[in-house]
Amino acid sequence: RCGYIAIVGKPNVGKSTLLNALVGAKVSITSRKAQTTRHRIHGIRTEGATQFIFVDTPGFQTRHDNALNRALNRTVVATLADVDLVLFVVEAGRFDLADAKVLALLPPKVPAILVANKLDRVHRRAELAPWLRGMQDRHPFAEFFPMSARHARDVQRLLALCERY
Ligand code: GDP
Ligand code: MG
Repeated sequence: RCGYIAIVGKPNVGKSTLLNALVGAKVSITSRKAQTTRHRIHGIRTEGATQFIFVDTPGFQTRHDNALNRALNRTVVATLADVDLVLFVVEAGRFDLADAKVLALLPPKVPAILVANKLDRVHRRAELAPWLRGMQDRHPFAEFFPMSARHARDVQRLLALCERY
């Protein structure tokens, strides 16, 4: 079994931190590889009979007025076309135009997990409830996953969730 998982979101929400943590958090890794290019970064992790291939996308660029940004955005769209699962990463409690532009790219048929990252910065968790309702109105997310990419236990729980897809 092999799962192809895309990590998408606007710049600076913690995608690369998450990829590094997903690929490197546990000692039971039997295959580990990271390829860094300007366009795509793959991380491979083998858990028993399941192999996850994580794709970290360059943050979606909201300015279209130069060729590099347009090329980066095409990379994001191409990546999303053939994945099994999308991790849509935002900062917990936040959503702006840049997030919305990335969200608009999510293919309707691929399950997406709303990863509400940087939870450590949220002081009143109760305030996330109305925010979450707003997010659910924007996209039919398969799951809502509040977490900190900096916390190994959260990363383990997210990996376990990915195994269900
Ligand atoms: P990317 O542009 O989406 O790949 O974001 P990065 O992974 O480069 O992270 C952007 C910044 O957010 C860095 O300074 C990270 O250390 C920080 N960051 C990532 N995850 C967390 C988190 O869970 N909590 C906090 N407080 N900061 C985080
Ligand atoms: Mg990054």
